This record gives sequence, C-alpha cells and structure tokens, in this order.
Amino acid sequence: MENDVKKIKIAINGGIGFGSKLNSKQLVTISKYMNEDEEIELTTFQQLYIEIPEDKKGEIIEEFQSVGLACYPVGNFVKSLRTCNFCKGEEEEGMPVAKELNRRIAGKAVPFTLKVAYTGCPIGCGEPMLNDIGVMKIKDHYNLYVGGKAKGKDAEVGSLLMENLTPEELYETVEKIIAVYSQMGKKRETFYKFLKRIGREELISLI
Ligand code: SF4
Repeated sequence: MENDVKKIKIAINGGIGFGSKLNSKQLVTISKYMNEDEEIELTTFQQLYIEIPEDKKGEIIEEFQSVGLACYPVGNFVKSLRTCNFCKGEEEEGMPVAKELNRRIAGKAVPFTLKVAYTGCPIGCGEPMLNDIGVMKIKDHYNLYVGGKAKGKDAEVGSLLMENLTPEELYETVEKIIAVYSQMGKKRETFYKFLKRIGREELISLI
C-alpha cells in the first residue's frame, strides 16, 4: 500500500546562483515524487521541503542532483547558505567563495538549526546581520558577523566578530565557530543563546 511507505523530509533548492531559481526540468523532476494532493513547503531560507520514500532516498537524491538540485537534511543541521542575488556579477560578489563555504558547512550536525547568510556587498540583500552567522563581502575581503536573531520580540542584529578576512580565513573561522558550537552547545540550544551564554570574547578565544 502506497500509504504505508515511510517518508522522510529533505530540503532542496537550485544551489547557489543568481537568485533562488528553479528550472522546468528541476520542477518536473520534483513533481515526479509528489502525488496530486501533496504539497511542497517553501521555507524562509531559500529551501523547499519535500517528503520522499525513505527506502528510495539515495536514488532520489541522486536523480535530484543530476538535474542540478542541491539536497540537504532537515532538522538540527547547518542550513544551506542563504545568499543575495549576486546582482553585480559572480566574481565581483564572491559567488565561488559562497559556494565553497556552503560546501564545507551545510548539513553539519549542530545542537539547533544554524542559519548562515552571505551577501556580496555592503547593501546586504542576503541579510547577514539577521542570522546566526553572517558574511559580508567588502571589496576583496570578508566581514564576519555573529549573533543575529530575526525572530521574536527580542530580535537583534548581529555584531562584527572579525573583518578583512581572506576566503581561506573565512572558511576556517566559520568552520571553527561551528565546531565550538557543536561541542559546547547544549541540546536544542540556539546559537543565539549559546553566544549569550559563553560570550563573544570566549568564542574568539576558542577559534
Ligand atoms: S548584496 Fe549587493 S551584490 Fe548582493 S544582490 Fe544586494 S546589491 Fe547585489
């Protein structure tokens, strides 16, 4: 019976590019795995949630990837990078750096869902200040912000942790922050609360 098939939720999107776009081939491929009465959820983080049969997870993800869809786990993991639309061009706005950062961190297990946002210039369309970790490209270097909180009455903008980082310094620093949070964060403790608990100075001393 089809209804007895155990399903698992995964997150998908079209990868990092000029805007969050999906092409018709990708949409057709996604719809192959949906019944007419099923829905797909669009999240605020440039991801779609779809439920797929658990026993076919590997082959479906492979098929999704073959048409250029990126697939990520749902739950307490680092989300795929939220990005701006790179309106000023791929190289100028550092799209290769955003892709590499995403490759290194997206899907890593953490105490609570961790949101990382990237923006290609100080205009900040990717809203880096309102996410757990934010990256802003300024000329040829990168500023790193932490502790943004977009939700709730106590919403807060993040604060500058480090500036003028090279791409390599950026990758290493973000990876270290995530490692510290993974090791020292309490179960289901948000990064925002974790940072309040240990303090910025302690975080800096640990990375
Ligand atoms: S942050 Fe800058 S590069 Fe990115 S979409 Fe906005 S204006 Fe364009």
